[in-house]
Amino acid sequence: MTEREIRKAIVENCLKMNATGLNQGTSGNLSARYKDVMLITPSGIAYEVLKPSDLATMPITKDYGSWEGPLKPSTEWRFHLDIMIDRPDVGGIVHTHSTYATILSIAGKEIPACHYMIAAFGGPTIRCADYATFGTEELSANALKALENRTGCILANHGMITTGANVAKAMWLAVELETIAKQYYQSLLIGGPNLLSDAEIANVLERFKGYGLQDKKAANSDAKPKAKSRAKSPAKAKAATTPKTRAKPKTLAKPRAQAKPSARPKPKTRKRA
Ligand code: 13P
Ligand code: ZN
Repeated sequence: MTEREIRKAIVENCLKMNATGLNQGTSGNLSARYKDVMLITPSGIAYEVLKPSDLATMPITKDYGSWEGPLKPSTEWRFHLDIMIDRPDVGGIVHTHSTYATILSIAGKEIPACHYMIAAFGGPTIRCADYATFGTEELSANALKALENRTGCILANHGMITTGANVAKAMWLAVELETIAKQYYQSLLIGGPNLLSDAEIANVLERFKGYGLQDKKAANSDAKPKAKSRAKSPAKAKAATTPKTRAKPKTLAKPRAQAKPSARPKPKTRKRA
């Protein structure tokens, strides 16, 4: 995907997150990897007015606190960045305060193997990370620990995080996590769940290889030959793969010394909370 497509996908998924009730207000944040930078939603901006150009960029390095953009990055940039550094397979991250995941997080409960879909998160549990103040390095460390060999976790007294190869897949998992959280919570009200064994979750995990949200184009590519009228001319195909956004990374690569101080608060203030 081009940078422009990724920026658009982030905004679309932010809107989807609020429209589906997965998130409320300005809480929650999304990020995606583009080459060696992370694109992340700005802090405290209502998604209804968010534009692709409003996203902040941060280099995916331990050069913490450096960023570019018209608006300050999310206060949760630290765990987004640490996950991107720690997990090169992750291309998209969703953080939300969805109701049922947050109820469980308030009770400090991890989600056990109450439904086979838990295997989509990589194992028989969705862990609950220990509480730490939002936006801190400590919260990031706790989240990384809870995410070990997992694609999602809940954050005590806060919400949840899901990860995926791209932002659409991370969003798919966010919906799945909230669904399992709701199912688990409600099963507790009627006597508690019958849990699946670790062996059964391992079995489901095996069957899940390649399962999940599919890219429609990729899923269809083997099924039927492309209709002639849809095929792009070589010139059009070239234009499509030579995005105008290629010219943009100039601003991303701009050394910090060249950044206009008036446009951005000093990075120093963003270093470690
Ligand atoms: P931001 O608006 O800074 O992204 O914060 C929302 C949030 O969920 C903090 O945990
Ligand atoms: Zn939050």
